[in-house]
Amino acid sequence: MKASAIVPSAGSGRRIRKALKSALPKPYLEIGGMPVLARTLKNLEDVPEIREIIVACDLRYRPMILEMARQHGISKLKSVLQGGKTRTDSVYRALCRTSRNIPYCLVHEGVRPFLTSRTMSRFLRQVERSGHEAWVAGRPMVPTVKEVKKGVIVRTVDRAALWEIETPQVFKKNTLQRAYREYHRAPFAATDDASLVEHMGKPVRVFEVRESNMKITTPENLFTARKILESGEARTGWGEDCHRLEPGRPFYLAGVRIPSPWGAKGHSDGDVILHAVVDELLGAVGAGDIGEHFPDTDKKYKGADSRLFIKKALSLTAESGFCISNVDTTVILQKPKLGAFKGAMRARLASLLGLPKDAVGVKAKTAEGLGAEGRNEAVTAHAVVTLKRRNS
Ligand code: MG
Repeated sequence: MKASAIVPSAGSGRRIRKALKSALPKPYLEIGGMPVLARTLKNLEDVPEIREIIVACDLRYRPMILEMARQHGISKLKSVLQGGKTRTDSVYRALCRTSRNIPYCLVHEGVRPFLTSRTMSRFLRQVERSGHEAWVAGRPMVPTVKEVKKGVIVRTVDRAALWEIETPQVFKKNTLQRAYREYHRAPFAATDDASLVEHMGKPVRVFEVRESNMKITTPENLFTARKILESGEARTGWGEDCHRLEPGRPFYLAGVRIPSPWGAKGHSDGDVILHAVVDELLGAVGAGDIGEHFPDTDKKYKGADSRLFIKKALSLTAESGFCISNVDTTVILQKPKLGAFKGAMRARLASLLGLPKDAVGVKAKTAEGLGAEGRNEAVTAHAVVTLKRRNS
């Protein structure tokens, strides 16, 4: 199953901007320390079936979207293009830009940041299994619905057959393309892509979503979203590591090669900062320690690049439903002095962890000539992390 993700995100959101006195439209406002759209894109990035992401937006915000992609490791972003006058136009433009060899497309609104990658992946797998060409996410209607005319109830609608329809909406690409061709021949007011397919008389199936998939359209939605994200359970993880120093070995700290007469002896590359960070992450989600996952008796890990260990620890953290709030580290080394490298180490660590730089600390201390570190026999690192449960 391969799908292109199309993210319409061109709405100007004048009301919310006015209400919040904000210069930015909704997708660019922050919730839980991350723009709404970045959260949506990150969820799409993590869906294995999704091979490319195309965003249709107001091009003034293109640089912000590219920066989001860089900061949050969104590598599948293929194109950021000018959206159309209506949502339908935006989706059509993006559809034309998708790769021909990807048979499905998934349309998901940029202002729905909560739906998890796992659910989207499950949805796509169900679409493939079913063989049906058009699907929407939705849930049975809960509130009582009444038809009202001039302030008076005309009737109570039987809600048994009513569903609230959301995105993602998933289509065989050629079906959606055909629906658009018909729509362009005889346009009508369409509020979503499924309506175009329905209009052709084709069945559209509903995939039931139970978890939160809030669409952020009003200031109230935005405040609720912030509340949800900011009240999440927090976890702390602690890690430390120590390696012997040996002359003539390459010396890596936080993934940066440090010019030095000696380096850390170890089965892997001996990067004490990365090892301490791996342990803090594993500790915070109760997933054991670095030695259990990467035993130094395993030849596979001889001379291993510690960035692989970080990758594994990050995926275990994400699987446990947590994301990193911040990471702080201290390295204890007598010589060489690390002052000149701290910036690069912090930047590298932030990029490995997919965090903004201000959420990452790298501090260096000498041991005042005391103990093994003081005698240039060892290098030690300490690390602490705060995780927050992803309320999505
Ligand atoms: Mg180690």
